[in-house]
Amino acid sequence: QFSSVNKGVEIIAKARRILVLTGAGISVSCGIPDFRSKDGLYSKVRARFPELDDPTLMFDLAYFKKNPKVFYSFAREIWDVQGHEPSVSHMFISQLEARGQLLRNYTQNIDGIEAQAGISKCITCHGRFDTTTCQRCHDQTLSGERLQEFIHEGVVGTCAHCGGVLKPDLVFFGEPLPDDFDTHIDADCEQVDLVIVMGSSLKVKPVAGLCGRIPRHVPQILINREVVGYPHQFDLYLLGECDDITHYLLSRLGWLSEES
Ligand code: NAD
Repeated sequence: QFSSVNKGVEIIAKARRILVLTGAGISVSCGIPDFRSKDGLYSKVRARFPELDDPTLMFDLAYFKKNPKVFYSFAREIWDVQGHEPSVSHMFISQLEARGQLLRNYTQNIDGIEAQAGISKCITCHGRFDTTTCQRCHDQTLSGERLQEFIHEGVVGTCAHCGGVLKPDLVFFGEPLPDDFDTHIDADCEQVDLVIVMGSSLKVKPVAGLCGRIPRHVPQILINREVVGYPHQFDLYLLGECDDITHYLLSRLGWLSEES
């Protein structure tokens, strides 16, 4: 494993336009469960709502319109208006940006921790929790704090004007990705000189297909507990806890003292 990480250090040190694709795994050490791991949201939803055939329905637009309760019962596990302390993995990405080596962070996460870690070149592919839209009158004026109260209590958020159901501006299954994804993705795929995928099962499309859009000569590194994305092949597999691996990378790159 160490010789592989050393190879990673070499590749990262040389790269100038790194695209980092992140998922829920990089926020697990911040206290936010991921979706598909043993203690992830998937198993919690299944235990609480055994009648639900598929726990991913929690993030399905058509299902939310019929039954928003499942989403509101679990949203507090992911989002806290007070924020969470960023993980070492978040700080690794912010170091790449500070050193001018980050082309873009495409995150599937909806916890908003990238902003707290100071990562500004970030596309939140699955939207945000801090704004919300009424499903009936389309009002968008509710503050994040008020939404947080509904989420904290685990009750369905309702519009102060018409009583309609509020939906945070997250991208549910059945909805298009935000405009800034389309604005940047083609040019980024042409410019990128290194891809790093961290903490994602690569099960959610279309973001999961991003690696397949990158020209084959561009090296790709996977940092994850397990191999994902098969049959897609990465050039380097760094398997383990992403914070341990990024901590080692930061240390070997000589960036640790400035980061911590
Ligand atoms: P996922 O749960 O499907 O996959 C997480 C991956 O990260 C798994 O392969 C797991 O083995 C790995 N992992 C978990 N902890 C790790 C660690 N400490 N070190 C290294 N690897 C680790 O997550 P996903 O691919 O992001 O898809 C989940 C979907 O659900 C996303 O679309 C996201 O919007 C949503 N979600 C978001 C959050 C969040 O914002 N933090 C949390 C749960 C779910």
